[in-house]
Amino acid sequence: MTQTQYNIESNNMAQINENFLKLAPSYLFSDIAKRVSAYKEANPHKSIIRLGIGDVTRPLAPAVIEAMHKAVDEMANGDTFRGYGPEQGYDFLRKAIVENDFKARGIDISMDEVFVNDGAKSDTGNIGDILGLNNAICMTDPIYPVYVDSNTMAGRNNIVFSPCNKENGFVAELPKEKVDVIYLCYPNNPTGTVITREQLTKWVDYALRNDAIIMYDAAYEAYIQDSDIPHSIYEIPGAKKCAIEFHSYSKTAGFTGVRCGYTIVPLDLEVAKASDGSKVQLNKLWLRRQCTKFNGTSYITQRAAEAIYTPEGKEQIKKTIAYYMDNARIMREAFKAMGLEVFGGENAPYVWVKTPNGMTSWEFFDKLLTEANVVGTPGVGFGKAGEGYFRFTAFGKKEDCILAIERIQKALSVETIHN
Ligand SMILES: *Cc1c(COP(=O)(O)O)cnc(C)c1O
Repeated sequence: MTQTQYNIESNNMAQINENFLKLAPSYLFSDIAKRVSAYKEANPHKSIIRLGIGDVTRPLAPAVIEAMHKAVDEMANGDTFRGYGPEQGYDFLRKAIVENDFKARGIDISMDEVFVNDGAKSDTGNIGDILGLNNAICMTDPIYPVYVDSNTMAGRNNIVFSPCNKENGFVAELPKEKVDVIYLCYPNNPTGTVITREQLTKWVDYALRNDAIIMYDAAYEAYIQDSDIPHSIYEIPGAKKCAIEFHSYSKTAGFTGVRCGYTIVPLDLEVAKASDGSKVQLNKLWLRRQCTKFNGTSYITQRAAEAIYTPEGKEQIKKTIAYYMDNARIMREAFKAMGLEVFGGENAPYVWVKTPNGMTSWEFFDKLLTEANVVGTPGVGFGKAGEGYFRFTAFGKKEDCILAIERIQKALSVETIHN
């Protein structure tokens, strides 16, 4: 193998990647924690209900646990022990993904297009490794912060934000300027809203027309209840030529602590070289990137993920999702009955509430904390367009949800709500 020869010229000191200094400080969850602990210190006898953080609470499905135990036993035996696995993931899991998440929906995805990972955060953050730094990027606002911060770290600052609010039904409008890379997340975190087939088709058509690519985050796909909402962008004709899709078992199957997901990079997806405009297959670049920087997800974890696709696994996971979605329904109905404007929560585990009486997100946060002892997440923490909104997650315990609602009802009943 021949190595590229470099001209080495030292600057006499190690230097940092200064793009990290351009990151907007991430105050949201530490600010929340600070306010909560200050309140607790002043009011030690009060019990606080947390409906803020986007982590699941229900245990793993029995089918998953059983598969993990079995895999551990295999690792204990010299004949069945596994060391390094394939970087792209074991065939057994990629096959289960292709069959269940795509073929069953009439989507043709091949095993070569599936990259098993240690969760969607890694790949949504790392995917930029294979893209040029001069791309113009479009993101929705409010947004999952990983997309913005990972691009900033890489040195990309050409980002336009497309606001999502009640006026546009929380679906971003197509950018007026030409952009090259688009990040979409549906069902959406934080708004809990979805995109219809017609709306998603517009984005795919835009991408095809403009030689742009779409990064489609489908982390909450399993929460979709309406049969006509797309689970995958590849349900839209032409999407295999313009989209990468991220999946995660974190919210689907409670894998936030286990760590597994996968990314689809279609073989048909080709992107231009800046130098001569010739096209290069992104799948090849991503494979090379993964083989260099990633050594695969653990065997035990991949067996755990495979178990999600067994008949028992599917049934058990459906029950857990139904549990969370019942929390979402309870919150939606109760907040509506209080006179609040409520969005999301029908096909996603997030309920997005318009703050009443013109309160800012943080004013509403403080009111709920001090008067109801309930913690949620201020919408403005996810972007400017989130100001005046508030996120509740359905990932808590049912009894906590019900108690929180009673307390919020009391706290709000003293004033007339006008939206
Ligand atoms: C939770 C979440 C993910 C999944 O993250 P993991 O790394 O798989 O746990 C991805 N995207 C969004 C928008 C999320 O909220």
